[in-house]
Amino acid sequence: MQKKYELYRGKVKTLYSTNDPDLLVIEFRDAVSALDGKRIEYFKRKGLINNKLNYFIMSMLEKSGISTHVQSLYSHNEVVVKNLDMIPLECVIRNRSAGSLVQRLGVVEGRVLDPPIFEIFLKNDSKHDPLVNESHCQTLNLVDMNHLVCMRGLSFKINDFLYRLFDSLDLILVDFKLEFGLFDGKVVLGDEFSPDSARLWDRDTLNKMDKDIYRCGLPGLIDAYEDLADRLGVILD
Ligand code: UDP
Repeated sequence: MQKKYELYRGKVKTLYSTNDPDLLVIEFRDAVSALDGKRIEYFKRKGLINNKLNYFIMSMLEKSGISTHVQSLYSHNEVVVKNLDMIPLECVIRNRSAGSLVQRLGVVEGRVLDPPIFEIFLKNDSKHDPLVNESHCQTLNLVDMNHLVCMRGLSFKINDFLYRLFDSLDLILVDFKLEFGLFDGKVVLGDEFSPDSARLWDRDTLNKMDKDIYRCGLPGLIDAYEDLADRLGVILD
């Protein structure tokens, strides 16, 4: 399999075609973004770290029976994935209150959410990815409702698996975002799982070990991502 042409350059990742129409290559660049891409900065090694973390987590999910798009590592900061027909929604699971939930509802940060909350956001940068509900999805035909049922079920299944995994490493999985797509008509997990798209707190200190470090203008983003890789046993070099 050979990487061919750049198809799409996102804020921190680039997508390439390959000589196999069913496969793509995702490059994780050394960039971090916030505020819908209004802030973008460069951090050496970040692409490598997120690529390896994402590959590790996706492989663990695959072993636990969840279909993901990840196929194999292509280079230190690139991965081969299945070419999914992406569903333009973001699924968020929240085990503790943080981020936009705190801003929207005034809930105190860190409150345990039992049962966890499932939210859907429409992928639309110009509208700042608005929150939508199942009724919007159905009436506005944003997604096939059978696929949405699958996405919801898979999101909770992934949460059960990852919450326990991170708990065993003394980390709290506060919240995370997932994106799904279709391959041969089946709902498959796409995009990434990384500390860019999840909130992880150290259980003892409640220190942030995710992109909130950057969002809050704190130092130590790469140190925290490397600490995370170390706890998971992910070899970076
Ligand atoms: N998230 C993401 N991409 C987005 C929006 C959110 O990966 O475009 C992740 C975010 O990192 C967090 C979770 O989804 O882990 C919930 O994010 P939230 O709705 O609280 O928004 P935020 O305050 O992070 O913008």
